[in-house]
Amino acid sequence: MVTEHDIDFFEKLLPRRAITDPDVLESYNVDWLKSVKGSSKLLLRPQTTQEISHILRYCNERNLAVCPQGGNTGLVGGSVPVFDEIILSTSLMNKVLSFDTVSGVLVCQAGCVLEDLNSFVEEKGFVMPLDLGAKGSCQIGGNVSTNAGGLRLLRYGSLRGTVLGLEVVLANGKVLNLLSSLRKDNTGYDVKQLFIGSEGTLGVITAVSILCPCIPKAVNVAFLGCNTIQQLLQTFRCCKGMLGEILSAFEFLDSASMQLLQNHLKLTNPITESPFYILIETSGSNASHDEEKLHNFLQHAMNTALITDGTMAKEDSKIKALWMLRERITEALLHDGYTYKYDISVPVEHIYQAVLDMRVHLRDQAKSVVGYGHLGDGNLHLNITSPLYDSALHSLIEPFIYEWTAKHHGSISAEHGLGLKKRNYIHYSKPAEAVYIMSHLKNMLDPKKILNPYKTLPDYIS
Ligand code: FAD
Repeated sequence: MVTEHDIDFFEKLLPRRAITDPDVLESYNVDWLKSVKGSSKLLLRPQTTQEISHILRYCNERNLAVCPQGGNTGLVGGSVPVFDEIILSTSLMNKVLSFDTVSGVLVCQAGCVLEDLNSFVEEKGFVMPLDLGAKGSCQIGGNVSTNAGGLRLLRYGSLRGTVLGLEVVLANGKVLNLLSSLRKDNTGYDVKQLFIGSEGTLGVITAVSILCPCIPKAVNVAFLGCNTIQQLLQTFRCCKGMLGEILSAFEFLDSASMQLLQNHLKLTNPITESPFYILIETSGSNASHDEEKLHNFLQHAMNTALITDGTMAKEDSKIKALWMLRERITEALLHDGYTYKYDISVPVEHIYQAVLDMRVHLRDQAKSVVGYGHLGDGNLHLNITSPLYDSALHSLIEPFIYEWTAKHHGSISAEHGLGLKKRNYIHYSKPAEAVYIMSHLKNMLDPKKILNPYKTLPDYIS
């Protein structure tokens, strides 16, 4: 339990940045989906690595639980306290430390907002290697901690490749400086990888060194309609073959997702209604070459009846409008009701089967069952809604969806992480031996065991 004495300590360490005002704490205790709520009574807003080191050393000695929080856009209930953990926000750690215009290596504090970083590097002729719908709020430290995938993974790969170095504060307050800017370094184990995707369980990331690619000179977006999932998959295959090196995104949504965008956000479908929609982006260095390639591909896709209709954009505003149709589905779902969110990856040929099987399984119990995602990465976002949280519906969905995913050799969390909501289902994707190694790593880096004061998890978690 946090005592008055603890609060005195933090107020001295972080003047006016140790917050106990319940009104301010309210939003830090609730996740973006408003599906998990903690009851923390203390929010800490450090500005430096040293301050985080003091905080963690103190909390470790006092056995006080800490929940690291970035932009609080996580979708698996990992970014907010479960009970009354101290919230350690990185929001004030928002400084760019250096940028090398030759190599494109950016070094910054963990609390920099992704969109701000992108604007910063864009001015210098570069882009961030990742992009996601939450870019206006999520922070680079949160992105690395969740190993966020997003919309550019097809082109620039995962953060496991683009993150070159990290600075991390361990649970006992020790600062681990792995903030390298080297692309190559084969001296033993790549320890920083442990922290990428570890969701704050092994330490707090305080700074990131990341490789930014050059800004593409020509960007084109095509928004297409197609009739069947087979055509969708064939279009992807053909697209990879014909667009190859300039293909930077291949996203899809189904007609139920489009319906939500139209109903709740009043967005307009730019093409004729179709069972499936595809968003293709190309990014290259030669506008006329790229346009010609895209044009040839579209002509081929139309001639072979892979697609039924489509529109293309090369101007910024139209490109943004088309991307919104993909990026704002998460927001549209929030307006539809309570959302049961699943983020699975499966061999790409099965990508939509989970939606079809779920609809059959649930019959008319759910309000909406929609599917969209990063088809190019074999990543489906399956979302189910009901007017309010419904525990009977929830137990129809789980563990059905996890069993389905395991049967198809997939992952129960492609990019959102485990957080609180998925942690008990890890065995569907990882063998017991791997989980054993994980728990040993956790015990090595954070050996203190906090006694759980509650026998079971509170209701709102289930
Ligand atoms: P938070 O939500 O604050 O935290 C996430 C987890 O990381 C928590 O477990 C937290 O404890 C831990 N953490 C945060 N900062 C640190 C730190 N500095 N050190 C250690 N641990 C830390 N995700 C994708 O992968 N791809 C998408 O395309 C995508 N699209 C999204 C679209 C929308 C509209 C929304 C709302 C979310 C989307 N997400 C997506 C999920 C989310 O945005 C990502 O998981 C993001 O990386 C979280 O960053 P954050 O700063 O908000 O972290």
